[in-house]
Amino acid sequence: MAKIINIIKGTKDILPQDVEQWHILESKALEIFSKYGYKEIRTPIFEATELFARGVGDTTDIVNKEMYTFEKSERSLTLRPENTAGVVRSFIENGMARLSAPVKLWYKGPMFRYERPQAGRQRQFHQVGVEMFGIKNAAADAEVILLAVNYLKSLGLCDLEVELNSLGCPTCREAYKSKIKEVLKPEFDNLCEDCQSRYEKNPLRLLDCKVESCKEIFAKPEIQKVIQSDFICEECAAHFEELKSYLDKLNVKYTINKLLVRGLDYYNRTVFEIKSNNLGSQNAVCGGGRYDSLVRNLGGEDTPAVGWAMGMERLNSLLPVPEPELLDGYIVSTSPADAFELAENLRTLGLKIEFDLANKKFTKQLEKASKVAKYALILGEDEIKSGTVSVKNLSTGEQVAVAKNKIAETLK
Ligand code: ATP
Ligand code: MG
Repeated sequence: MAKIINIIKGTKDILPQDVEQWHILESKALEIFSKYGYKEIRTPIFEATELFARGVGDTTDIVNKEMYTFEKSERSLTLRPENTAGVVRSFIENGMARLSAPVKLWYKGPMFRYERPQAGRQRQFHQVGVEMFGIKNAAADAEVILLAVNYLKSLGLCDLEVELNSLGCPTCREAYKSKIKEVLKPEFDNLCEDCQSRYEKNPLRLLDCKVESCKEIFAKPEIQKVIQSDFICEECAAHFEELKSYLDKLNVKYTINKLLVRGLDYYNRTVFEIKSNNLGSQNAVCGGGRYDSLVRNLGGEDTPAVGWAMGMERLNSLLPVPEPELLDGYIVSTSPADAFELAENLRTLGLKIEFDLANKKFTKQLEKASKVAKYALILGEDEIKSGTVSVKNLSTGEQVAVAKNKIAETLK
């Protein structure tokens, strides 16, 4: 026998029995997002490597360690590790800045990151996300957060925690960065390797380090004092207050987490995550924030923006597995040609119909019908002679003879 070729580590098949759950995530996204005026956008799965280096930021884990990059015709290409950079590229390239603001977009699809596979972490995974361009006001931040919460609610996920923080603007953040560096300087040798290398390039990233010994350092009172201080400028503070008052008014519950800085370089002001207590250590289902300088950094006109992305595998693991969908009818017959014809007629009338293609015995066909369909459509010799079908309700056992041209009506 030929050697079996296995699936690549960190990737998964989505098998037919699991696809229904994905359909629910996708159809609810379309339903809820369109209520708020978001239009779907589909961008390529690979882009110029430079887009992510500049767009996600070259001090991030994503760019430094996690990208699938390859060369083709002397160009460096990368499988998208996230989709904000791609959407922003498309926004700029297609002149969407000329459209009247806000421009509201959503997407879904696979993302690729070279990470250690574990529960809740794959190398190919899927995200659904939204981006809103052109609005500086906190109302935009409030709308995207509300949208995330309502999408989760529509899936039956009501008990998730929204965590919120403001990173200020580049100006007020600079002073905060220096203070963080200063207070952590005496602890430098005790920080983990990652934190040591981030210390110069991206000191805020230290704050969401997951290493226990680092967390202990950050819990020290003198360090907490700096972390908990209100460093953001008046304007940023007013923006944050406005956002909170919108959320309060809309009854969106949240907690402030000063350690929440998010991995990506491009955020300013609002950052948020939505977490579940039922996910173990990879507990974030949604991450997002405001990124007012990204469009300009990628060559577009100055355009404020805010958005988020959710991990669809993590969402799925929170949802109950739906019951497999039943056929409307399964034809049980000793005449394959008649069964074929009847099936085709009923399908054109919009019903889901199957019949036996393997010449199985009548009783075997009936057994199969009871597993896969709501009704058995019995087409024996008597029925063929009289132009009828015996329609058997497989949950009640009730059976009635129905004229062929009345079956669709009866089943509906
Ligand atoms: P994490 O802290 O879990 O690494 P992140 O900050 O890298 O998350 P984002 O880039 O904000 O994640 O992506 C948004 C969401 O996408 C996450 O909240 C998570 O639900 C999901 N996600 C991110 N990376 C993966 C992965 N490797 N496998 C599965 N889902 C993922
Ligand atoms: Mg990550």
